[in-house]
Amino acid sequence: MIKAKKKFGQNFLKDESIKNQIIQSMPNDDKLVVEIGPGLGDLTKELLKASKRVVAFEIDLELCGYLQNIFKTEIQSGQFELICGDVLDEYQNTSLREEEYHLIANLPYYVATNIILKALDDDKCMSILVMIQKEVAVKFASKSGDKTFSALSILANIIAKSQILFDVGSQCFDPPPKVTSSVLRLVKFSKYLEKDLFETTTEVEQFKTFLKIAFRQPRKVLIKNLQHTYQKEELTKLFDILKIELKSRPHQLKISDYHLLFKNLNK
Ligand code: SAM
Repeated sequence: MIKAKKKFGQNFLKDESIKNQIIQSMPNDDKLVVEIGPGLGDLTKELLKASKRVVAFEIDLELCGYLQNIFKTEIQSGQFELICGDVLDEYQNTSLREEEYHLIANLPYYVATNIILKALDDDKCMSILVMIQKEVAVKFASKSGDKTFSALSILANIIAKSQILFDVGSQCFDPPPKVTSSVLRLVKFSKYLEKDLFETTTEVEQFKTFLKIAFRQPRKVLIKNLQHTYQKEELTKLFDILKIELKSRPHQLKISDYHLLFKNLNK
C-alpha cells in the first residue's frame, strides 16, 4: 500500500462523481492532454478513456514505478507518456511540450499558483482545468470590482476566460485536505506576446512586477502603493489623463487601466 506523502501535496481524489464532472468539463477536441501529478492514476484512467494522448509528470518516484506498472499497455501503445520528475524543472523558460496541449490536473496545492502562472506563460498551453485550493481559484477567477480582484486575476483574465466550475469538499479526498477545493477553468483567447499587449517576454515580467507593486497593500488606495516606486506628480497627472479616480483602491480598476498605466509609466 502506497502512503500519501505530505511533502508532495498528495491528496488523492476518490469521489467518482467529481472525477466525472472534471471529464465532462474537458475541452472537446483531440489535442494532447497534460496531467501534472497523476498520483495513483485514478484521474489519469478517466483522461485516457476521454482523450487520444496523455502526457503526465510525477515527482514521486515510488508513484512513478506504480504508474508504469498499471499503465503498461497504454505506455507501450504510445497513448500514455509518463515523465518522472519535477514539472517545474521542465517548465524552465520553455514550453512544456512542442505541440499544443490542455492542462488537466488535481494540482498539488503547494505549487499550484506557480504551475498555473507557468501554463499561462506557455503559448502551447491552450486551456487549464485544475482542482486547486478554493481561495486561490477565487483569486484567478475574480473580476474587476470584486474585493478579491488581484494581480493573479489580471494575469489570468488578460489572456483567458476564467471561471470557477464547482467546489469540492475535503471528504472527496484521501487523505482529506484542510481546505475546500474548487475546479478552475481558464480558456485562453490570446497570448501575452500578441502585438496589442506586450512586445517582449521581459515586458511581461515587468508588468508582473508592476502588478506586485500595485497590489502591495490591496486595501490601500492604489496611488499610495504606486508612490513607493513612481513619482507622485507623474502619477497624479496620469490618473487625470486616464480618468482614474485618485481614491481608487487596487481592486476597483479595470484590466485595461492597469495595462495603460503600466505602458505609460514604463515608456
Ligand atoms: N492526480 C491525483 C489525484 O487526483 O488523485 C493526485 C493529485 S495530488 C493532489 C498531487 C500530485 O502531484 C501527487 O501525485 C504528487 O506526487 C504530484 N506532485 C507534487 N509536486 C509535483 C511536481 N513539482 N511535479 C510533478 N508532480 C508533482
